[in-house]
Amino acid sequence: MATISSFCQECGKAVQLHVGQSIDVSELVWHSGYSCDCGTQIQMDDTGVPPDEIRYEIIKAEGLWHLSIHEEGKQRLIAAKEIRTALHLPFSDLKAILKSIPGRLKSGTKAEMEWLKKCLSNKGINVEIVLEQENKHSSIPSWEQL
Ligand SMILES: [Zn+2]
Repeated sequence: MATISSFCQECGKAVQLHVGQSIDVSELVWHSGYSCDCGTQIQMDDTGVPPDEIRYEIIKAEGLWHLSIHEEGKQRLIAAKEIRTALHLPFSDLKAILKSIPGRLKSGTKAEMEWLKKCLSNKGINVEIVLEQENKHSSIPSWEQL
């Protein structure tokens, strides 16, 4: 869980917003919430990928993760199609995706990479996710970017 400095919606006091991601069956979900001294407790859940400022805090707390696909031949094309669907990318991006297979395709939070791994593993694709050891990023790869 990562934290972000924020303010209580009720009393305006400084609070620590807790943010995190998880996988719910087959969907990527994210949570944010806080509890304030004034008694206010907020808990929100949403599906999909959180805003970049939240992803940035999660990556700071849990590290940057990479997804690699080890496939060739027909499986490689199946993997690329699956990635395109999962990321809602246009059909024209299929070529760009194929360029990174086999190899390292995408980076992001641990939950995002685990979710992609799950989507691909369901199709029998051989996927590996690894944590980047040195995490010194001042910017993070956006979800839409390959
Ligand atoms: Zn409050």
